Amino acid sequence: MPDNDVLILCESGDGQADVGNNRLIATGAKLADQWGGRLVCLLAGGAADETAPLIAPHVDAVHVADFAGGDHNSIAHAHAAQALVDELNPAAILLAQTFLGMDLAPRIAGRLGVRAASNCLSITPAGDGVTLTRPVQRGRMIATVEVDVRPLVATLQPGTEDLGAGTRNGEGKTFPVPADIDAKVRPLRTIAPEETGVDLAKEEIIVAGGRGVGEKENFALIQDLAAALGGEFGCSRPLVDMDWFDTDRQVGLSGNSVKPKLYVACGISGAREHLHGMKESEVIVAINQDAEAPIFEVAHYGIVGDVNEILLALIERAKRT
Ligand code: FAD
Repeated sequence: MPDNDVLILCESGDGQADVGNNRLIATGAKLADQWGGRLVCLLAGGAADETAPLIAPHVDAVHVADFAGGDHNSIAHAHAAQALVDELNPAAILLAQTFLGMDLAPRIAGRLGVRAASNCLSITPAGDGVTLTRPVQRGRMIATVEVDVRPLVATLQPGTEDLGAGTRNGEGKTFPVPADIDAKVRPLRTIAPEETGVDLAKEEIIVAGGRGVGEKENFALIQDLAAALGGEFGCSRPLVDMDWFDTDRQVGLSGNSVKPKLYVACGISGAREHLHGMKESEVIVAINQDAEAPIFEVAHYGIVGDVNEILLALIERAKRT
């Protein structure tokens, strides 16, 4: 029985996030390569059959759990995962830090008699163990932790890794879930979040505004520049906290992780929590009246001045091209 395999629990379908899948695959592949094991995926959810072929080139095997309709059922997911864990005896079991992952990780860890490491930012192989980073003190500090417990059960924050074409060759395989699993808990209905149609993680151009824009009406300039550049608008967390926008527009640690070709940060100071969600953008332009603002440390281009004045000039210029 192999014991160096890495099992990743990917998600698909209604009410489940596929945003975490890429980082699970990228991280799991590094661990599997280091340990000489296979990268195995358990995929469950409403759209599992469509998602499996997308994941297959990046893993050594995809197991699809069929929940007859795919409703969220953490008992069913836990049973499917447990059966696969029993079969593989994996060295690590990785889940995304999503509602499903947060629900499942402790269940799986509890059954295995280990603790789950939650909300990791990164997990890298270190010999037979791993080094993981995770925010502590409400995100004010990042802790680096060395773990040599096997199996490792951990949740990873969703990320936007570019996986390329894929070099593995996961064979599709249907993984049957035991029939009596949902006798005790049965979802009555799924209430999907309001559809806004925006997924910042997939945008190539994002213009984001922060507290520096001042009044809410000034934010129209951010939206105008985003439209003129053919992109979408985002914001820092305080604007969500003030109810200006929903969390689908928030960039950062507790919002969306983005990696666009162009990220324009307008009146955003560049707090660590914000940087966490956007610092991997290809080109970062920052506009801030404070030349010492931390956002300039990650910006490729910086403009020091009043954000609203500069936005007007940029919008005019963008509309001319
Ligand atoms: P501020 O920090 O107030 O910065 C405003 C900036 O605007 C300043 O740099 C100022 O110089 C500039 N400015 C002011 N007026 C002008 C002007 N007229 N022209 C040009 N520049 C001007 N934050 C996030 O964004 N995303 C997250 O996901 C997130 N998650 C968090 C999670 C936790 C657990 C915690 C504790 C915090 C989190 N935060 C998050 C909050 C984060 O710490 C910062 O408070 C927040 O990012 C600051 O937002 P801001 O840059 O818009 O505001």
